[in-house]
Amino acid sequence: EARRVPEQYRLFEPTMACSREERLLLEKDLYKALENNELFLQYQPQLKLKTKHDFSMEALVRWNHPEKGLIPPGDFIPLAEESGTIVPIGKWVLETACRQTKELQETIGQQVTVAVNLSLRQLYHENFVKVVSSILEETQLPPKSLQLEITESMTMDKNFLLPILHDLKALGVTIALDDFGKGYSSISYLKDLPIDCLKIDREFVNNMSEDEREPLVDLIISMAKHLNLNVVAEGVETMEQFNYLLNSDCDAMQGYLISKPILFETIINNCRCLNKK
Ligand code: C2E
Ligand code: CA
Ligand code: CA
Ligand code: CA
Repeated sequence: EARRVPEQYRLFEPTMACSREERLLLEKDLYKALENNELFLQYQPQLKLKTKHDFSMEALVRWNHPEKGLIPPGDFIPLAEESGTIVPIGKWVLETACRQTKELQETIGQQVTVAVNLSLRQLYHENFVKVVSSILEETQLPPKSLQLEITESMTMDKNFLLPILHDLKALGVTIALDDFGKGYSSISYLKDLPIDCLKIDREFVNNMSEDEREPLVDLIISMAKHLNLNVVAEGVETMEQFNYLLNSDCDAMQGYLISKPILFETIINNCRCLNKK
């Protein structure tokens, strides 16, 4: 028989009540966060293993809350998705990432690709393709410099997603499937969706050791190669994982070992210094 909490305690659930209240407050704050410039982006560079001449990074949003301090996206993106605030927030992320990447390209005089995370709710918004195309036009970022990351959970409704992805691809941007292996979507999606890149979820990368091959990682990489997809390993933290991936067909690595997510100002200042040398 299931363990039951005695009735008198169930009437009063302080932790739940508290967190619900807190969620409501945060949700309200989120609306103001955009206007008050409390959101900012960090960028996590990727290490390319095959091509040496281009630079890629992923944009990750952060919220500098006036009282609570730094709030990670895992704590507010789900709220933003629920309340719908993700639509203007997502648009701001796209705009900012494209503008800053364009500036970086001009500074270092070379191709830079930026990957931006999308929420399903953004895609459902009727004008999403239009939003992306006007941001590209406004910022003058070459479309091929923008990669849009979707997750497996979004691929569930293929009939809905397919035309949008095709319209996005027609703009010239590329699409990555994020957190691959973590969700439950069928492998057949890989064949049917116009995807350019597959990002192996951190959990698989975590399990790798140097002296033994990890069958699932090898399988994902070889499958990606057969489908002509770029493959990026996420969450690389140790030299063991690094060496493992060096001995594979993986195209790029991302993770704390290579770099933590960093401020745009830091990236651009470092590039300026390099350019002077
Ligand atoms: P994600 O897209 O899978 O992003 C990678 C997350 O892993 C980031 O967490 C990054 O800081 C973290 N990470 C990178 N390397 C390592 C590593 O070596 N070890 C470990 N343990 N973690 C690593 P972050 O920035 O907290 O973002 C969490 C999630 O929030 C993201 O997961 C993404 O799903 C979502 N997110 C972030 N920014 C946005 C955004 O602008 N829009 C939307 N819709 N979602 C976003
Ligand atoms: Ca991502
Ligand atoms: Ca991921
Ligand atoms: Ca994720």
